[in-house]
Amino acid sequence: MTEPGDLEEQAGAGVPDNFRRLWTPHRMAYIKGENKPSGSGPGDGCPFCQIPKMKDEDGLIVARGEAVYAVLNLYPYTSGHLMVVPYRHVADYADLDGPETAGLAEFTKRALTALRKASGAQGFNVGMNLGSVAGAGIAAHLHQHVVPRWGGDTNFMPVVGQTRVLPQLLRDTRDMLAEAWPAS
Ligand SMILES: [Zn+2]
Repeated sequence: MTEPGDLEEQAGAGVPDNFRRLWTPHRMAYIKGENKPSGSGPGDGCPFCQIPKMKDEDGLIVARGEAVYAVLNLYPYTSGHLMVVPYRHVADYADLDGPETAGLAEFTKRALTALRKASGAQGFNVGMNLGSVAGAGIAAHLHQHVVPRWGGDTNFMPVVGQTRVLPQLLRDTRDMLAEAWPAS
């Protein structure tokens, strides 16, 4: 097992924190195909169609709008990695209708505000991977990533203890972001 001291030997990427070790195996499971839909249709186990049917706490939903919702990524690149997702099972951004387009833009703005307020994020990566060749994990149902960044990429929401397991980290993060989510 890699110890924090080992990670600190890495050059050029700031001082790593202990969360990296918690998350990397989780992301590896995703890359290996667990929880992947069996096909491209909405009934093929598409997680973005299933999540809105769950309670917010269970689905890690931060906020629900009319046409879109915001949810924490179960396989985050950084803490607080949010996704803004239309309820409708649609693959191509060009196929979004007016309310979906407006909702996606508005919820992206609110996600930035909530992340700044809850975590002090200093920057963001925002965008979509459209199509599996472009790197989309779930290509059949588009989703906008909002990934908070901090100087050195070492930071994490400071109230969250480093020894807790990932599911609890995600629930705590969801609670904080839901509370910080602007009403308008
Ligand atoms: Zn879907």
